[in-house]
Amino acid sequence: MTLTIGVDVGGTKVAGGVVDEHGTVLASNRRDTPADDPAGTRDTIVEVAAELAVAHPEATAIGIGAAAWIDAAGSTVLFAPNLAWRDEPLRDYVSKAVGLPTVLENDANVAAWAEFRFGVARHADSMVMITVGTGIGGGIVLDGKLWRGANGIAAELGHIQSVPDGHPCGCGRLGCLEQYASGNALVRFARAGARQEPERAAQLLELAGGDALAITGRQITEAARAGDGVACDAFGQIGYWLGVAMADLAQSFDPEILVVGGGVVDAGDLLMTPTLTTYHDQLKQRGRFPVAELHAAETGNTAGVVGAADLARRP
Ligand SMILES: [Zn+2]
Repeated sequence: MTLTIGVDVGGTKVAGGVVDEHGTVLASNRRDTPADDPAGTRDTIVEVAAELAVAHPEATAIGIGAAAWIDAAGSTVLFAPNLAWRDEPLRDYVSKAVGLPTVLENDANVAAWAEFRFGVARHADSMVMITVGTGIGGGIVLDGKLWRGANGIAAELGHIQSVPDGHPCGCGRLGCLEQYASGNALVRFARAGARQEPERAAQLLELAGGDALAITGRQITEAARAGDGVACDAFGQIGYWLGVAMADLAQSFDPEILVVGGGVVDAGDLLMTPTLTTYHDQLKQRGRFPVAELHAAETGNTAGVVGAADLARRP
């Protein structure tokens, strides 16, 4: 049995784990991320990895997944939207500090890799995954290999365009998928719906203390489960845009399987039913030739640690 260490670096938490070759987490730890302090974040990652390495001296390597753009060599964080890193040579710093070979990868790529190795795509040879959280990320695996792109920034699927001249996106473009199919989009749609049709949002507004602007993602899921019209419509809208994007990806890559991951997938059929309906509607030629299956991810919130640890195992 070979063990490796996975570290999942998010805007609020740095989570670590010792993982075996079957993707089982044998030990784990976590710290708060000092997000506005680049040196502090770097040292927190070292602390998390070193603590696990000391407790499990048989661990052979470290994998780090970070919500960031990583350079083509997998050594430097070029830019991180929610962390104060700019051109941070993170891989070599951690490797030297802990004394183990280290790999560095974008967090959505890491989550996709976990799903490909141990989740719903474990029997497939090719897969495209969209992660739906606060924002949107993506990961592409082709012929059993993570596709990082020529510059290391492949699969930024949140920034493909859904609506020409649409809602402004943080990336500077208009109408990106992230503005129509993310957790943030879900909240925006629900708040707008609750203001326009308060009588159809009675349950949702009750949960939010009567204030449409106070509506949260969690409340939308709860209200939709109870049948609230506006909350169900909000899931219908993000599912629609996700289904359209998935149909485009099926035709771009022809993967064996398409996967919807990320925190919002916990809403289950509320998200997956409209996504699947639109996906099948959009592929008009369905029946003439086979198309990719579309499924919800299975690996859940350990995907970051498990995927990073498994990538560290690769040559
Ligand atoms: Zn964008």
